[in-house]
Amino acid sequence: MSSTLFVSVVLDQNLKKPLDYAVPEQWQRLVQVGMRVEVPLRSSLQKATIVALKETSNIPHLKEIARLLSAESALSDPLWKLAHWMAHYYAAPLQRVMKCFIPPSLRKEVRPKKEFLFFLALTKDEAITHIASLREKRPKQADLLEQLLHAPKGLPAAQLNSSPEALLKKKWIRREEKASSELSNEEFFPTYPKKLNEEQSTCLEKITASLRTEQFAAHLIQGVTGSGKTEVYLQAIQTTLDLGKSAIMLVPEISLTSQTIERFRSRFQEKIAIWHHRRSLGERTTAWNLLKNGQAQIVIGARSAIFCPAQKVGLIIVDEEHDASYKQSEEIPCYHGRDIAVMRAHIERATVLLGSATPSLESRYNADIGKYTLSKLNSRATSATIPKVSIIDMKQVYDRVGGFTHFSDPLIDALKLRLEAGEQTLLFLNRRGYHRLQMCSACRYIIKCPHCDLSLTFHKNSHELRCHLCDFSQNVPPLCPQCQSRETLQFKGFGTEHVERSLHALLPGVRTLRMDRDTTRQKESHEELYKQFRAHKADVLIGTQMIAKGFHFPSVTLVGVLNADAALHIPDFRSAEQLFQLITQVAGRSGRSELPGEVILQTFLPDHPLLKLAAAQDYEAFYQVELAERRLFQYPPFCHLVKITCSSPHPDKAQEEALQIHAQLQKQLSEGPLLLPVLPAGHPKIKDQYRFQFIIKCLKIKDLSSLLEQLTTDLNCKIDVDPINTFF
Ligand code: ADP
Ligand code: ZN
Ligand code: ZN
Repeated sequence: MSSTLFVSVVLDQNLKKPLDYAVPEQWQRLVQVGMRVEVPLRSSLQKATIVALKETSNIPHLKEIARLLSAESALSDPLWKLAHWMAHYYAAPLQRVMKCFIPPSLRKEVRPKKEFLFFLALTKDEAITHIASLREKRPKQADLLEQLLHAPKGLPAAQLNSSPEALLKKKWIRREEKASSELSNEEFFPTYPKKLNEEQSTCLEKITASLRTEQFAAHLIQGVTGSGKTEVYLQAIQTTLDLGKSAIMLVPEISLTSQTIERFRSRFQEKIAIWHHRRSLGERTTAWNLLKNGQAQIVIGARSAIFCPAQKVGLIIVDEEHDASYKQSEEIPCYHGRDIAVMRAHIERATVLLGSATPSLESRYNADIGKYTLSKLNSRATSATIPKVSIIDMKQVYDRVGGFTHFSDPLIDALKLRLEAGEQTLLFLNRRGYHRLQMCSACRYIIKCPHCDLSLTFHKNSHELRCHLCDFSQNVPPLCPQCQSRETLQFKGFGTEHVERSLHALLPGVRTLRMDRDTTRQKESHEELYKQFRAHKADVLIGTQMIAKGFHFPSVTLVGVLNADAALHIPDFRSAEQLFQLITQVAGRSGRSELPGEVILQTFLPDHPLLKLAAAQDYEAFYQVELAERRLFQYPPFCHLVKITCSSPHPDKAQEEALQIHAQLQKQLSEGPLLLPVLPAGHPKIKDQYRFQFIIKCLKIKDLSSLLEQLTTDLNCKIDVDPINTFF
């Protein structure tokens, strides 16, 4: 065995390039790639990860590693491969990518949370005798004994009626460490696999076949809300466990509620680790260790769970695969959790399962061209029916009431009926609309770019309308281009709070809850609001995007969408898709149990083809229309986009940098990739940072990667490969 004399490490702390260190004699046979170490840097010790072993180094007088922090590599081979792939594909420094794989809990060496279970250490008869004799003088001890007498599986400290110390001393009870369990203190009623309907079993059979081959395979389940996708996931996970492998289940951040977790726990109990950033570092360390040593075979989490050290991964599920929260846009690396899932499955020779009622165009297209196997679930699994959807023309409503109102008469009538029947309503306010949108108040005309299929955005500073994809701009016209009215072009935008106030004015005594970014700032408030509504503490839940996802409220029979077309006004090639997904999803909240559901869509564009397709919940038709558009205008899935953003506290500097990179790329790129012009970002200033950006269109990211990687090392810019937003 040869010994390793030098290693390259990346520091946890932000430094762009790996550093070399010498390895002291006694560790030369121990060091491995992926090992956590401590190294001297200037006058302090820094934590780092070994990324390469070297026989030689051309840097003289290297310092030595100070300490080995782990006895083995923190990352398995497949995860290393994934990290390198990510660094390359997303043109991100490896050290930034490592941050995803080495979570803060590990970086800070947080100890796993220890838990103890308490058990009776007596026979039943002995216990009964002691309870009787303690009852008078030591009632608390008697209570505790009695409690444990009825808990043969033991109880965690938090559930004990009183302090266990005295009884422990007497050795009448004992405690056992339970460091390895993720089980919360809640009790779960076990559930059993349901007998699948025909669509479900056909789908599961295909998945099972893939799982057995132990080769990479990708499946897309396109199933209407309530069609029983989750039941298929559960049974596919069971098959995975039976094959001795583990499963990773990704859900959108917002759906990671106790309701979701319970559903999985009640089937698989303690084999599950839960992963999300709201958990404490200790809890995350526990989860990480459980997965690493193979005690947990299932991990459920939001996007970052895809980096968990699950062993022998056989199945990766991405529920609601179209959901934008899988994309990390704020920080480098700007990765997409779903795409990482597909790549990880590829590396691990696993099966990946993407599920959605409204698949992303990219995924559905991949199914069409044979990259993914498509299964459709077209009917609801229970007796629940697809809700009835109606479209209300708000322009007529405005005309009748002579001005603005949040509520049309049909919606008010429907609301009253629900109040009388004791049923619940969701009122959904689509806030995705850009607030400075230009719209004619007389004919609702929205001004669009003549060169792109996008609405123009009003720029207040320059007082002009501009397209954010091609930089076309024009002055605000004095007359509406459609109806020729004068001074009718207006800016739009209204909030949930206003809706709530208006509703109380219309229906005195109505009980409301509001769920939006303002009311859910606190850590658990989202879940708290949700529980209150489920417990029928309110008749109406008013909210934004947040209420659209994943919740199951059995007594909701009415969903009102107040401004169904708002998303159409964002100048982004994905706005139609996002609107379709959103409306289908909100509609899916209604009539989930025996009670039939109704959906009312209020809009100024009642004849908009997209809204009609959304109302009919006709994904197929929508997909065909939208795909044709994407093909025509060359957008994903027919190409890849890369967004490069430069920010600086000085607008000139941000713009200059962006222009410089743009020019540099223009020179280095031959034909093929297309560079769109440098523009201010849709949010041109965030937190005192001015932002300028441009988009590159290309057929293959591979052709761009090395060029982009160069950029990251010397220039201060953010590279977003496959951005979810091109505007903001
Ligand atoms: P989705 O994930 O597609 O929204 P779910 O898996 O949540 O759908 O299923 C909707 C409801 O139907 C759930 O209450 C679920 O328990 C039930 N269900 C699913 N599959 C079956 C089945 N094969 N037989 C009976 N009930 C089912
Ligand atoms: Zn007009
Ligand atoms: Zn344009």
